[in-house]
Amino acid sequence: MPGLIERYRDRLPFADGDPVVTLGEGDTPLVHAPHISELVDTEVWLKLDGTNPTGSFKDRGMTCALSAAVREGAKAVICASTGNTAASAAAYAARADLTCAVIVPEGKIAAGKLAQALMHGARVIALRGNFDQALTLVRALTDRQPIALVNSVNRFRLEGQKTGAFEIMEQLDTLDGLCIPVGNAGNITAYWKGFNELDVAPRLFGFQAEGAAPLVLGKRVDQPETIASAIRIGNPARWEEAMEAMTASRGMVRAVTDAEILAAYRLLAAREGVFCEPASAASVAGLLRYGADGARRVACILTGHGLKDPDTALHQVGGVIACEPNLSAVEEAVLG
Ligand SMILES: *Cc1c(COP(=O)(O)O)cnc(C)c1O
Repeated sequence: MPGLIERYRDRLPFADGDPVVTLGEGDTPLVHAPHISELVDTEVWLKLDGTNPTGSFKDRGMTCALSAAVREGAKAVICASTGNTAASAAAYAARADLTCAVIVPEGKIAAGKLAQALMHGARVIALRGNFDQALTLVRALTDRQPIALVNSVNRFRLEGQKTGAFEIMEQLDTLDGLCIPVGNAGNITAYWKGFNELDVAPRLFGFQAEGAAPLVLGKRVDQPETIASAIRIGNPARWEEAMEAMTASRGMVRAVTDAEILAAYRLLAAREGVFCEPASAASVAGLLRYGADGARRVACILTGHGLKDPDTALHQVGGVIACEPNLSAVEEAVLG
């Protein structure tokens, strides 16, 4: 499969002959979830966007953001990130031979994401502050310096991310509801744009972590806290658009606890064979907690891969079984 820009060029702001920076993103699996379907008594599908080249949906937006940056003659890109935007920006910048800097909250990003950003050669700045402060600072910096900002305030990011909606509707003819984790609120805004362009209107059910739920509370959260580091955001950049999308679709934004997120995270891995990261599991946690509200066919966006954050996973599960190298010991270990 070619990358997104080539596949959807007629619906993206790129002309023939424009530079394209791609890693073959998109075209991710949409798999039925029999166990969760039974639990909520509705047909549930999982969009495995953690199978994108750098392991998260951010690649959908980044192919467009970096292609546009190259077209505009940019030499450097920058973003604030809870981790996945940094990993994706670093990879696509490496591919495009551009300099990349990322600003992440110190000590608050998952190990895999940090490893990616560093391996791809980005300049990684660990801010003694949170994501919201990092985003405010990079916005101010890019006003002063000729560096392209590739956060989801960049319109090309949303253009790329709307293709997730296209792919779902190519596979399913109808969709009643979409469950999606909400952090900076770019992705839910992008999905709504994609659905609108197709003239379909599933209800959007956005889910935030209880300790980082500004849209649910209707006010900024100064010190957001959650195990789901990718959605640890207290002042979403796409706040109004996301709320408008949820209202227009007759959807809702609601909160789930970290315990519910982790339970869904384990359930997805153990019962559906799908290992996503904690933030992604917020979509399923919300569906399990609140139900489908009459929607008969629902898709949950699993935004990032579980391998991004091995530390959280290893804290959730039992340990390994030590064993001497002889047959009877192995037999006992295997059979329990
Ligand atoms: C970025 C991200 C989100 C949140 O997406 P927004 O567009 O910021 O709302 C959710 N899950 C994962 C894994 C992410 O990387």
